Amino acid sequence: MSAAGTITSGPPAQARKLDVARIRGDFPILKRQVHGKRLVYLDNAATTQKPECMIEALGSFYRTSNANIHRGIHKLAEEATGLYEATRKVVARFLGGADPHGVIFTRNCTEAINLVAYAWGRHNIKPGDEVLLTEMEHHSNLVPWIILAREKGAVLKHIPLQENGTLRLDDLDKLVTPRTKLVSCMMVSNALGTINPVGEIAAMARRVGAKVLLDGAQALPHLPVDVKKLDFDFLAFSAHKMLGPTGVGVLHARPELLRSMEPFLGGGEMIREVRHDSATWNEVPHKFEAGTPNIADVAAFSSSIEYLEAIGMPQVREHELSLCRYAMAELRKIPSIRILGPEDPNLRSGVVSFVDQDLHPHDLSQILDQHGVAIRAGHHCAQLVMRFFKTVATARASFYIYNDRDDIDVLVESLRLARKYFGF
Ligand code: PMP
Repeated sequence: MSAAGTITSGPPAQARKLDVARIRGDFPILKRQVHGKRLVYLDNAATTQKPECMIEALGSFYRTSNANIHRGIHKLAEEATGLYEATRKVVARFLGGADPHGVIFTRNCTEAINLVAYAWGRHNIKPGDEVLLTEMEHHSNLVPWIILAREKGAVLKHIPLQENGTLRLDDLDKLVTPRTKLVSCMMVSNALGTINPVGEIAAMARRVGAKVLLDGAQALPHLPVDVKKLDFDFLAFSAHKMLGPTGVGVLHARPELLRSMEPFLGGGEMIREVRHDSATWNEVPHKFEAGTPNIADVAAFSSSIEYLEAIGMPQVREHELSLCRYAMAELRKIPSIRILGPEDPNLRSGVVSFVDQDLHPHDLSQILDQHGVAIRAGHHCAQLVMRFFKTVATARASFYIYNDRDDIDVLVESLRLARKYFGF
């Protein structure tokens, strides 16, 4: 399917197959053992592993080019600034030819969303205004709006989940009202894997002139996304979920919109001129990057993006889709396991969330760890989703470019052994 013409979620025609053995060789951590077993890393929705090229770029920055950026007029400062700003351009290219002036580096996706809540929300949301979210959101796209709504006397509404793990859009036209000022929605669910029809949701928001924020944390690493074909005002995501370093997030928006907003944090770098009791702001994106940023990690992030670009995002998508299809088929062979989220793998990214009717996800996860298998057990920062499915936690396996069917076989075999261990 094509999520309202914005995210290509089906496999492209003639996609090249990934050479997983070669890719694995690029990830040093995958050579290590866990409890004497080969590491089977299936916690990619939490964070991904890092290729040697990114690790090398990070080390190389500190070994050869370390300096503070933008201010210095010496060689190292120039080099460091060049590396930092080069990543901005690489991110803009990865997004399908975005304007680099509209690419702001933050600490993570969470900070990018909080930036919008603070710098746009606090000045544009009035008492009685409505913010429309979904019942599927990660807490990082819920809590900033809960805080804002409390402060402003605004009303939060949620597009409801339905049993098949997708959003129920039947009443969308009633949920969006003339008081709706913002619709903020995740592109892909971290808890269920569901790919949301964000084009359809944005179109409804536009009918009342609401702004649209897309949480792309689970989309940008896994699906081809072209911002020119995507209707949004703000797009947020994290580097660490796409082979990049921790401590780097991105907020992307049109430069004109960013110029119209108040600053987020105040301090060095974000100003043009400061007097005793007044200040003017720097040009975007610097207006939103107060203080010394995470220079080295931003500089290294471009290697991760280039690595993904070399593989090709359509290929990444096809690979994950095939793993997801295989994993769902294999997990269904264990009758006590219930998979949450869409039945059709085409409607989901490489995330499979499940519960075993006899075992707590934490117990499962602990036994799997003994077999070298890293999955996640918990509420996945999506307590509304857990509440909807009347559970407190799920087990979640999430795939990436270095996973293959062998990994899934080890997962499924370990699940069987866990059941045996607990006497089922
Ligand atoms: N949104 C989604 C959909 C996520 O999966 C995550 C991370 N699990 C976040 C936001 C927050 O990302 P970060 O912790 O990097 O800020």
